[in-house]
Amino acid sequence: MFAEIVIPVPFDTFTYSVPPELEPGVSVGVRVVVPFGKSKKYVGLVVALRDDSPLGVTIKRIESVLDAQPIVTPLQLEFWRWIAHYYMSPFGDVFKAAFPAGMKKDEEEKKRRRKNIVEQTAGLGVPGVQHALNESQQEAYKSILESWTTHDITLLHGVTSSGKTEVYIHLIQKYLDEGKQVLYLLPEIALTTQITNRLRAVFGSQLGVYHSKFVDADRVAVYHKQLSDSPYQLILGVRSSIFLPFRNLGLVIVDEEHETSFKQQDPAPRYHARAAAIMLARQYGAKTLLGTATPSVETYKMALDGRYGYVRMDKRYSDMQLPEIEVVDIKRLRFQKRMKGSFSQTLLDAIGEALADGGQVILFQNRRGFSSFIECKTCGWVPRCSHCDVSLTFHKKTNALTCHYCGSTYSLPARCPNCEESSFTTIGLGTERIEEQVVKFFPDARVSRMDLDTTRSQNAYERIIEEFSRHESDILIGTQMVSKGLDFDNVRVVGILDADMMLNLPDFRSYERTFHMLSQVAGRSGRKGKKGRVILQTRSADSDIIKNVVENDYDGMFRVQSEERELFRYPPFTRLIYVYLLHRDFKTVEHLAEQTAKLLRQSLGRRVMGPDCPPVGRVQSMHIRKIILKMELTDSVNATRQLLQSVVTQVQSQPIANSLRVYFDVDPV
Ligand code: ADP
Ligand code: ZN
Ligand code: ZN
Repeated sequence: MFAEIVIPVPFDTFTYSVPPELEPGVSVGVRVVVPFGKSKKYVGLVVALRDDSPLGVTIKRIESVLDAQPIVTPLQLEFWRWIAHYYMSPFGDVFKAAFPAGMKKDEEEKKRRRKNIVEQTAGLGVPGVQHALNESQQEAYKSILESWTTHDITLLHGVTSSGKTEVYIHLIQKYLDEGKQVLYLLPEIALTTQITNRLRAVFGSQLGVYHSKFVDADRVAVYHKQLSDSPYQLILGVRSSIFLPFRNLGLVIVDEEHETSFKQQDPAPRYHARAAAIMLARQYGAKTLLGTATPSVETYKMALDGRYGYVRMDKRYSDMQLPEIEVVDIKRLRFQKRMKGSFSQTLLDAIGEALADGGQVILFQNRRGFSSFIECKTCGWVPRCSHCDVSLTFHKKTNALTCHYCGSTYSLPARCPNCEESSFTTIGLGTERIEEQVVKFFPDARVSRMDLDTTRSQNAYERIIEEFSRHESDILIGTQMVSKGLDFDNVRVVGILDADMMLNLPDFRSYERTFHMLSQVAGRSGRKGKKGRVILQTRSADSDIIKNVVENDYDGMFRVQSEERELFRYPPFTRLIYVYLLHRDFKTVEHLAEQTAKLLRQSLGRRVMGPDCPPVGRVQSMHIRKIILKMELTDSVNATRQLLQSVVTQVQSQPIANSLRVYFDVDPV
């Protein structure tokens, strides 16, 4: 007997022989230990059994079997195969992403079996905590159920604080009552804290939470519980929770569906959890609810075309008013030298008033957790990473320079290597620098900061968010993490320090993304009680996007975007696949990328664009080239995949392409 086995390496499957003494224990879905390469051993998963072995390869033997029962269900395997196929990713990479680390290690697995499964029962609920829906929520609830009689997927488009979460809670209750399981997906770990508390209060021990900030052993425990006879009926998680086993999934909720963090960028599989969740629901005959205040252009178009059900909620709960958005033109203020550091007087006054009144403030700065760049005052020299084509960011606390792309750390040179002078200046404004200024302007305020750097430790998100909810801090400074769905009662002012940063990115989605982000951030203000203020500092005060945000004009934004994308052939009017080629040698990658594009053009013609050098053209010493395929919606996706694979195989078969790396990004965001 032979077995097809997937192991956590970037290939599909390998064939191993099953020694007669292990035959009774080897079945599809059990894990085994197998030798690999010269001396390695891996934990692999049996995905198929066969009587014959492929010709001309040496077959190694399975060493031992780890599970008495399959730990992956047939539906799960089918789903994982779909991800590998659709996103053109090796099955080994999907396997790697699907299991928590402990399940891929022999020793840890043995240890676990000796321990008892940890149950997540903290803060057990009392089910009396569920709020009654108000009239418009009731109506939305009914319309959603109604829409599911004709559509499997429905978009709930509700302004911030309309009570979407309350509607979800009632829908979850309905499905749990019917004995069905529910998966509730969030785009960001930072959001799980608040939603966990709300769901825990209603659903108690029926709720299981699953994400990567948990200790791995807890994730393993959740996985095994889902296989057992008493699984959590409700799973709240970020994108990786789609890989869990389900028994009778009835409903999938994708909250904040517009968020691009549902797409995994690196490493492979580069899957979109929203699309994958829809597929998962389809497998189980389950319904999908996509919820957001600002739908993605893709999803909204599906709703307009009648392919998704559509339910809208326009009123905020108990008639809370939307905040007033005041635009401050910082280009003019800078010219007039009237900026105080990164702050306009308007913003400083607003913060001062809010604080004096006992209110809280959120300041949003979208430089992703990183501080400023550094520059030589004399000659303008900027330190750059020696492995990547990017400038390094300066972290004041550690007095170190780090590379955003490869993580290398460098110490700050005593003198400029270019002109030997020793004075540097910082440019740009990261959250750390904003914090420094805030402390200076408001010495009595309690300030906390939420970004990549302050949330590395396991409970950091919870701590920062809970501190702020309990009003143990007055001002919360953060990156996009603070923009998403967080619900604080006492926030009077939201300050957006620099709205332009995203707008200037060379990407067809930058306009849409800026709209999402600014609208979401603005929605954090004035959720309960008083009407909130939003101060939006920008250098593009007259641009359409800022007008759309200020007027809360989603449809206006959509109209412009949709026209533009149809004209320039972008999604949702076409389908994109990016092909990345990586090599240590600049000339080699350039040559091979040209060759690949030429071969693709023979069949795909004008659908092939490039190769181009991406904005960061070298990462970890690998030179990168990118080819874009813009496929028509009527093109066969499978034929395109096959063509791509065969062209890449052909290119890679040449000796010169020996160490060429190629990967695909299907439906990139
Ligand atoms: P959304 O998810 O649309 O942003 P939420 O569900 O978070 O809105 O509701 C906003 C706030 O209003 C929350 O604090 C929530 O508890 C409260 N709220 C909404 N609907 C109700 C209701 N029917 N009864 C009591 N409180 C509600
Ligand atoms: Zn210099
Ligand atoms: Zn680097």
